[in-house]
Amino acid sequence: MRKKIVAGNWKMNLDYARAMALVDAVLQQSDDAWKTQIIIAPPFPYLAAIELQLRLRTNIFIAAQNCSDHKEGAYTGETSAAILKSIGVDAVIIGHSERRKYFRESDDLLEQKVDRALENFLLPIYCCGETIDDRNDGKQFEVVKDQLTNGLFNLTAKDMSAVIIAYEPVWAIGTGVNATAAQAEEMHQYIRKLLVEKYGNDMAEATSILYGGSVTSKNAPELFGCKNVDGGLVGGASLKAEEFVSIVKAMEAAQRTSPYPPSKGE
Ligand code: PEP
Repeated sequence: MRKKIVAGNWKMNLDYARAMALVDAVLQQSDDAWKTQIIIAPPFPYLAAIELQLRLRTNIFIAAQNCSDHKEGAYTGETSAAILKSIGVDAVIIGHSERRKYFRESDDLLEQKVDRALENFLLPIYCCGETIDDRNDGKQFEVVKDQLTNGLFNLTAKDMSAVIIAYEPVWAIGTGVNATAAQAEEMHQYIRKLLVEKYGNDMAEATSILYGGSVTSKNAPELFGCKNVDGGLVGGASLKAEEFVSIVKAMEAAQRTSPYPPSKGE
């Protein structure tokens, strides 16, 4: 059965006290018996402390928001996948559109980061998604296909089985305008088709594809009700415990009420 996941990307927000309080509140309000895999991606300096705080919980993972494309050495200010692994980090967001845009990260660079993550047994959460201009030009499928082909599809099937894909249309990130359920499902279906073509049906059916872009507790039930949407990568709404946990609950409810029978391989 494909893993259902709700990940919170805190970006460059919250001071230390607020960050620790937010984790506490998420812990209080969530339940270890829930099937949904929760992932929290705080700023780098808080990773080790939050990892300790989460140790007793099996269904909450901790992720970094980035890692270096290098293995180790003289790269001032960078953090390697090996360093992240050594403090207990489970996953790493790679290729978020803000990194693609503000730090000019190319698919070639991201491919290296994915390799570094996998070498260190970190789960890569690989982000892809088109800009509004791409979509207005009808190029959204081409853009997403290129990002996946160039950044991910060099992986072997074994490595690919550890990857989580996040479809995040750039026009929906932080704008309050989410993709409609139909738009999300259309792209997720397309991504799954690409996975079938490259890796076969079993692998495609086992890969979690998250939607990201202005997810809230209001729109989560409809988005998570889509057959190919396996959860969310949540930005702004992950900074408030109650809202974030409500989104996780929407994923729990979607799993209980899904009309879709498990596909072959699930
Ligand atoms: C994100 O940054 O990955 C994101 C989806 O942000 P938001 O939920 O705020 O749109």
